[in-house]
Amino acid sequence: MRIILMGPPGVGKGTEAQLLSKHYQIPHISTGNIFRELYKDKTTVGKIAKEYIDRGELVPDDITNEIVRQRLSKSDAEKGFLFDGYPRNIEQAKSFDHYLDQKGWTMDAVINIAIDESLLVDRISGRRVCEVCGAVYHIKYKKPEKPGICDKDGGKLIQRTDDMEATVQRRLRIYNEQTAPVIGYYENSGFLFTIDGSGTIEETNSRIMKVLGEVD
Ligand SMILES: [Zn+2]
Repeated sequence: MRIILMGPPGVGKGTEAQLLSKHYQIPHISTGNIFRELYKDKTTVGKIAKEYIDRGELVPDDITNEIVRQRLSKSDAEKGFLFDGYPRNIEQAKSFDHYLDQKGWTMDAVINIAIDESLLVDRISGRRVCEVCGAVYHIKYKKPEKPGICDKDGGKLIQRTDDMEATVQRRLRIYNEQTAPVIGYYENSGFLFTIDGSGTIEETNSRIMKVLGEVD
């Protein structure tokens, strides 16, 4: 199963991706998470990427395409994968198509999770992330058992710089300018599915499962 999850920042792609990756037993590949790890490991690429991400901008295509290729060359991606946050513009989509051709792979689904923009700021600004394992919570919609503490490992929950309001506005603008056209790019592919993302995590998940043919 090869899936691309698309949708504006804050729509819940990360959480939906975790559910799908568990269901299909395929790696969840988030370029955002890879960049954050590269930064934690004090790599040059990680430092460069963080500067862009903190400004709410896209990491340059050559860097992003390269880390995606490196990630896909690992053996666990042979049986499939799920992208969350890639491709972010038409150039990346074209580069990725070229890579798929080289590998002889085809996509199964591009899932576009659509939502009204006014709901997004609320969703993003309430998001908290575990400092230790990266698990994502929300102060209203996905509360941890103890406020501010990760259920899994007791790690501290923090607000990421790129979830802060000014950055969110900027990310939305860039999404509309650069990433939304990627949906048009896949329009005639035959595997683009647009899902209503205004409901709960579970509702969105069952809508996705439905288009993937898992439930009636
Ligand atoms: Zn944790």
